[in-house]
Amino acid sequence: MATLRITKHGEDVLKRVSEPVDFDKLKKKLPGLLKDMWATMYGVNGVGLAAPQIGLNIRLAIIDVRPDQKPQRLVLINPEIVSKEGGIDEEEGCLSVPGLYAKVKRYARVRIRATDHHGKPYEMSGEGLLARAFQHEIDHLDGKLFIDHLSLTERLRVARILKDLRLNWT
Ligand SMILES: [Zn+2]
Repeated sequence: MATLRITKHGEDVLKRVSEPVDFDKLKKKLPGLLKDMWATMYGVNGVGLAAPQIGLNIRLAIIDVRPDQKPQRLVLINPEIVSKEGGIDEEEGCLSVPGLYAKVKRYARVRIRATDHHGKPYEMSGEGLLARAFQHEIDHLDGKLFIDHLSLTERLRVARILKDLRLNWT
């Protein structure tokens, strides 16, 4: 088990649309890969991590928003949103943009379809932080970061902050 370097805003791997996962091809490597991803995410107190954040452009992400303070490990392979409703404006951050938080408008409730770590398809509904995490992680697989959702004025404000923050990123 290893903690991996998390890619940062500005790196190409975060801007690319990731490739669908062929489960049978990834099956052998998946347990080791997931172990490293969990260790990396928990190591920095994250609630979600997508493969591009460890330098892989494949449609794989993990989420644990700890409902009721208990772990709930979700593996999302080739996830897609099947329904969405409502809207909510809340502060959001990202392990690939450390130190920056901004209000982002998201759907309040979403239902996703994905494949789990056994290769089994499932559907799951989420609201609150889980709904936000679903949208945030799927965005990563489409080459988008939360700051791409900001208004032009907000983005200009954030650009100045990012310049300073970036000096401390590794
Ligand atoms: Zn993120």
